[in-house]
Amino acid sequence: MPVSETFPDVQIDLLGRLEDGAAKACAKLTSYTCGDGAHAAELNGKFYDAVASVGSVTIKSLAASAGAFMLNGGVLAIDEEPVSRILSAVVEVVRREFDERGEVLDVSELPALLERVFVTYLFHEIRHTSQGLSLHGNVKELKSIAGPSVMAEYDALADRDAALAFSAIYAESDTRESLLATLREALFYSTQFFFRAFPVPENRPDKIARAMAVLFMAARLVDEKSSGIPEENSEFPLDSPLYVTLSACRRKLAIHRGEPFKTLIGFANDEEGVSALSSHICKGEMVAALALATEIMKKVEFETA
Ligand SMILES: [Zn+2]
Repeated sequence: MPVSETFPDVQIDLLGRLEDGAAKACAKLTSYTCGDGAHAAELNGKFYDAVASVGSVTIKSLAASAGAFMLNGGVLAIDEEPVSRILSAVVEVVRREFDERGEVLDVSELPALLERVFVTYLFHEIRHTSQGLSLHGNVKELKSIAGPSVMAEYDALADRDAALAFSAIYAESDTRESLLATLREALFYSTQFFFRAFPVPENRPDKIARAMAVLFMAARLVDEKSSGIPEENSEFPLDSPLYVTLSACRRKLAIHRGEPFKTLIGFANDEEGVSALSSHICKGEMVAALALATEIMKKVEFETA
């Protein structure tokens, strides 16, 4: 469904706002990656070539062979079908929170939330360029050679890098705490909106493992006692990229750190919990999934760190 038809009652040029906001986000990320510091250097390698060449962003219907986006002559064209699904998922969650808990998001805040979620999605897609996966044909061939779990690993790492890029441009200050709080916000978007927009089927352990990886990254940033950021171990920073491998019976899993080098972090010592987590993910119960992922993460037997 075209984005314009998803929100007939919204009295703003939503499409124009998203396109302008995304182009500005690309420009901001370009200038951030040219600055000093480890994050700027990391994001420069992962995003600079793509975001620096974006002059404008347009949301439109793309041919299936094009994949999710096309970057041509400075114009970044994003396929509108997935965008429309994501925006609908945001509105559905906001409406449900109102129905269940009476929590009201000021209507004037909705466009800003939609823009932030869209930018997170855009950064995920753009990150596939430097991963060597910008051509839709490459993704299909990789899956046919290596199986779907390899793509799940690339996707989990792109989810984390998109969240890191998001935090670099939206953090309120340049303190570590502010950066991590904004990273948590972006990972929250991934867990609560993206996996609702693209439901995870029971018969796709690769997609379940990807969702688990994002949930564990978000879970590490949750401090139930203070609602602030938990204490950080410099050997295993809270913004470390993680991915998950899941057993065929879906009761056991291993957590790996993807960078700066591939490291086995540990095993979840909780078969019931892993099975229940998988079930929450497939049913789209993402609030319960995040709470359970936080419990499971506490019980992980760490091999390193
Ligand atoms: Zn992807």
